[in-house]
Amino acid sequence: MGQSKISRQIFIDPVCLMKVAPGKKDFTFTYQMRTYYFCAESCLKSFKTNPEKYLESISIKRKGWWSRYLDRLKKAIGGKPPKCH
Ligand SMILES: [Zn+2]
Repeated sequence: MGQSKISRQIFIDPVCLMKVAPGKKDFTFTYQMRTYYFCAESCLKSFKTNPEKYLESISIKRKGWWSRYLDRLKKAIGGKPPKCH
């Protein structure tokens, strides 16, 4: 049984800004045609309560450390999806 090649994306929890790898426990919420992933149900609930607040804080931070963070993430995985061995 070969594992199908599913590209593993990393998502950012917009509430606590943690990395979330979808697959284990899926706390997701679709808002304005985008699906957001959360590390825990509590973050999901917080987001549902006031999505705009969290999306705003992301778009502000994105210009700073956010883009640097994404660069580092790309370098860390060498542009390839991580493998388990
Ligand atoms: Zn969280």
